[in-house]
Formats: sequence, structure tokens, C-alpha cells
Amino acid sequence: MLIDIIAGARPNFIKIAPIVSAIVEKQNEGVPIEYRLVHTGQHYDKKMSHDFFEQLGIPDPDHNLEAGSGTQAEQTGKIMIGYEKLLLEKPCDLCIVVGDVTSTMACSIAAKKINNIKVAHVEGGIRSGDWTMPEEINRIVTDSITDYFFTTSERANSNLRKSGIADNQIYFVGNTMIDTLYKQMPRFIQPAVWESENLTEKGYIVMTLHRPANVDDTSKLGELINEIVRSAKGIPLVFPVHPRTAKMLADSGIDTSKLTMTEPLSYLEFNYLVQKAMAVVTDSGGITEEATVMGVPCMTLRDSTERPETCDIGTNELLGTDPAAIPPAFEKLLAKEWKKGGIPELWDGKTAGRIVQHIIDIFEVQ
Ligand code: UDP
Repeated sequence: MLIDIIAGARPNFIKIAPIVSAIVEKQNEGVPIEYRLVHTGQHYDKKMSHDFFEQLGIPDPDHNLEAGSGTQAEQTGKIMIGYEKLLLEKPCDLCIVVGDVTSTMACSIAAKKINNIKVAHVEGGIRSGDWTMPEEINRIVTDSITDYFFTTSERANSNLRKSGIADNQIYFVGNTMIDTLYKQMPRFIQPAVWESENLTEKGYIVMTLHRPANVDDTSKLGELINEIVRSAKGIPLVFPVHPRTAKMLADSGIDTSKLTMTEPLSYLEFNYLVQKAMAVVTDSGGITEEATVMGVPCMTLRDSTERPETCDIGTNELLGTDPAAIPPAFEKLLAKEWKKGGIPELWDGKTAGRIVQHIIDIFEVQ
């Protein structure tokens, strides 16, 4: 059997790494299962792509579609054209897409339209309910043509059932991003900023911002940054800046003098910082899951989340995007009154193994 594994952007690389390893493990046991790693080129610079392959031990992609940057439609189009060409040359039996980026949606459509190639969506079924987020559109479109859903939570299962998906298409397996976190934890690397800024354990806060709703309007971005700086009361704020945010900050006039800004960090460095931080302030989805598993207080500057278990069970709290919500949250943190949190069901580091075993069973590979 031939499986295509699609990866296009930073969070995808973290999610596919354990799936590739689980397939290789089965190959080593003699199971006739082949894979093709397809990089769409949606994220292409070293810090957003190449470094992840190197650190997480992901083999070089078999194909790079080199989609590059562009508008939503331009990227979608380029990825679909590139992937369709590959499928016409040699079709696969199953296309695995992960997460909610443009590549996830584009490749699932291309696969489905060529001879109804089966599509598996890892992290299927999650919903924020916010249709202004491109990711939500990607999730809904992908799930509307997915055959096998590998899910991270009961909430995802219930979203799928509500949309008419049959129980026998839903496989509740856990979270591959957390497989990577557990595997890599012993290898975390202290970043240079630790020494240069004299950081100490639980003595600083990590922040990341990259959602269009927070960064595309510079006055909004400025208000959020000012309020975070004021509320942190001198606690060092380490801010690895996403390329999208860096573009907006340049020449914006926003005062960043109280922030320690770095380029995007490598996975092992970034999670070293998160693990030892007093808290995380973010608008990322994946980071709320990692903070939950590491028990680090997490403030999310969004009005909704597609990962409600990070709030119900984990350490995450949704503050919304109104800067007025920031000071009370910091007061709670500084008073050491932040909730402790637990770890969601099946986020145990063994998800990819379960996914690959299900695939072997579904396709009767022997
Ligand atoms: N991450 C990283 N370096 C950074 C910021 C984030 O390695 O400087 C990792 C982080 O640990 C998580 C993933 O990138 O695994 C999250 O990606 P992102 O926030 O871009 O996407 P989202 O999860 O919001 O879709």
C-alpha cells in the first residue's frame, strides 16, 4: 500500500513526524506499507521548515511542490495543481492530511477528485465556530470529503457526528503533536536568549502572536502589546516573532523596547522556553496543547478555540481579543491562583502508532 503524507506549514511538521516513525517501525516489522512525504512548500524558510525536519528526524521530503507564499487562493491553487500532477504520475492508496492549513484542504481536494482517492484527516473534527479564520474553512472543507477521521478529543467526535459522519469513520486516537512533545522532551535545547537575558526558571513569560485578527491591524497589535507589557509588571517577556507578525511590526511605530524579540525558535529551543516559563501568552492553537501537557499557565488571545479541552481540562484560558481582559488574567497569574490543569484523554505519546495500526486494519495490509 502507498500512503501520501502531506505537510506544508510549521505545525504540520510536528504532527507528521511521529506518523512517519510509526510507518517505518511497521516497515521494519515486514509490513508492506510504503509512504511518500509530500512537502507543499507553503512554509519554506529555514526557521519555519527545514530546521523542523532536522531536529525532529523527519526524512527529506520525496516531493516538494514549492507553492511558496501568496494569497489564500493562490496558495491553494498552486498546491492543488502540483499535487494533482504528482497523483496523475503515480496515484496513492491513501492521502493523509494533518491539521488545518491551506495544504491540508488543497491536497485533500486534489486527492478526492482523482479517482476518489481515500483521505484520512489527522486532527479531524475540531471546530472553533469562527468562520473568519481561514483555518476553520480549511477544517470544514477537508472534513466534508474525508473518509477516515483520526481525532484528538470527544468534542471532535461529537462535532463530526453532528455533521452526519458515521461512527465507523471516526477513530479517537489522541494527539500526534503530543507524541512529538513527549519524544523530544529529553532533547530540549536551551536557547541563546536564556543566557543573554539572564532568564530563570518560572521567571519569564513566553509570547507568540500570529493570527490575522491580532496582527494584521497595527493599532490592535500595538494595544495588545502595550497591555501585555503593562500587565507583566517588569517580568521579562520573550517573544519569538512569526514572519507574518514581523512584517506588521516593521515600521509600525509600536514600542517593542520592553520585549525580548527573537526570530522564530527551533522546536527544541521553543519548547525548552515554554516548559520553564511562568506562563505563555499566545494566539496559537498547538501551543495551548503543549502548554497544557507541560502544565504551564496559558492565556489565549482569541475569542474562540477549536481545542476546548485545553481550557476545560488543561491550563489554558480564553481571554478574547479585547486588551481589557489582559490585566485581570495577569493579576490571577501573579497571585499564583492559576488553575493547575490535567492532561486530556489519550494524549499519551502513542497516537501515531494507533493511527498506523488502524490504517493497516482498514486496508487489510499484510
Ligand atoms: N513553535 C516553534 N517555534 C516558535 C513558535 C512555535 O517551534 O518560535 C512550535 C510550537 O511548539 C508548536 C507549533 O510551532 O508545536 C505551533 O505552530 P503555530 O503556532 O505556527 O501554529 P498553530 O498551532 O497555531 O496552527
